[in-house]
Amino acid sequence: MTLVFMESADDELSRQALTLAQSLGGDVRAVTIDGPYAPSVWAAAIVEAAGGDDIVGPGSDRGNELLAHAAAQLDLPFAANVSEIQGDELTRLRWGGTLLEEARLHSDRRLLSSAPFAFAPATWGQEVAVLTPSFGDGVQVVDHVAPDMGGKVSLADAKVVVSGGRGVGSAEGFAILEELAALLDAAVGCSRVVTSAGWRPHSDQVGQTGTKVSPDLYIACGISGATQHIAGCKGAKALLAINADKEATIFAHADYAVIGDLHEIVPAITAELRKVKGS
Ligand SMILES: Cc1cc2nc3c(=O)[nH]c(=O)nc-3n(C[C@H](O)[C@H](O)[C@H](O)COP(=O)(O)OP(=O)(O)OC[C@H]3O[C@@H](n4cnc5c(N)ncnc54)[C@H](O)[C@@H]3O)c2cc1C
Repeated sequence: MTLVFMESADDELSRQALTLAQSLGGDVRAVTIDGPYAPSVWAAAIVEAAGGDDIVGPGSDRGNELLAHAAAQLDLPFAANVSEIQGDELTRLRWGGTLLEEARLHSDRRLLSSAPFAFAPATWGQEVAVLTPSFGDGVQVVDHVAPDMGGKVSLADAKVVVSGGRGVGSAEGFAILEELAALLDAAVGCSRVVTSAGWRPHSDQVGQTGTKVSPDLYIACGISGATQHIAGCKGAKALLAINADKEATIFAHADYAVIGDLHEIVPAITAELRKVKGS
C-alpha cells in the first residue's frame, strides 16, 4: 500500500505523485493537510497516517521538505525527485535537472517524491483524507500572518508574471518591467543570474532553486531558457518570450515570441496597454 501526500486535491505536481504511486503497484490512498504549515508536525501526521505503508509526495519544495522530515522521523532513506522506478532501482533528477542519477534504494519501505513533470498527472476520483496535525500539549497556533507584500501580488499567486534575465542589464533596468507589471497587476520575477548579480532579491527568483510559478501568462524578458529556469515556469498556461537572439532556447517553450531588444519592446507594450486602458 502507498500513502500519497497531496498539497491539494487538484494540485498538478501532487497528481503527478499519484501517478508515481500507482506505478508502484498495490493500493493507493491520498491525504492532504490544511492549516498553518509546520514541517515536522505535518510530517509526523503523515507518518502516523501511513502506518507501515510506502509514502510518496510531490517533488515540490513543500513535498520534499515533508518527505525529508518523515524520513528523519522514521530513520529511513528518502529518494527525492524520482523520474523512474523499477523495484529498488530508480532514476532521479539532481542538480536542477542537469544530472540523471541512477540509484538503488536500500530499504523495503519506500519514501519517494516525484520529479516535477516526469509523470503525467493522474485523475483521482477517490477521497483525499484531510489530516489534522497535532501540535502537542501546550502548543497552539494563535495566528497565521501573511507577509506584507506592500499591496503587490505575490509571485506564487500572480496571474501574470513579468520576468527578467541577464538581458535586462542592471537592477535599474527592471524599472520598465515594474511599470509593465503594475499595469497588468502582475508580479516581477527573474532568473538566477539576476539574483546572483544582486539586481533582485532571491525571493524574486523563478526556477528549480527559486519559486515555481503557474500564472496564466509568463513574460520572459532577456531570459535564455535554461532547464533550471524553465523548471520554475513550465506550469504557466502561456509564455511570451522577448529575446534579442532568435536562436534562444526560450523560444522552444514559448507560445508567443518577440525577437528584439527588450529595452524597446517592453516600453512599447506598456505604451500600447496605456492607450487601451486610457491611462
Ligand atoms: C543547480 C542549478 C540550479 C539553478 N537554478 C536556477 C533557477 O532556479 N533559476 C534560474 O533562472 N536559473 C537557475 N540556474 C542557472 C541557469 O542554469 C542559467 O544560468 C540561468 O537561468 C540563465 O539566466 P539568464 O537566462 O538570465 O541569462 P543568460 O543565459 O545569460 O541569457 C540572457 C539572455 O538575454 C538575451 N538578451 C541579452 N540582451 C538582450 C536584450 N537587450 N533584449 C532581449 N534579450 C536580450 C540573450 O539573448 C540571452 O538569451 C541554476 C543552475 C544550476 C546549476
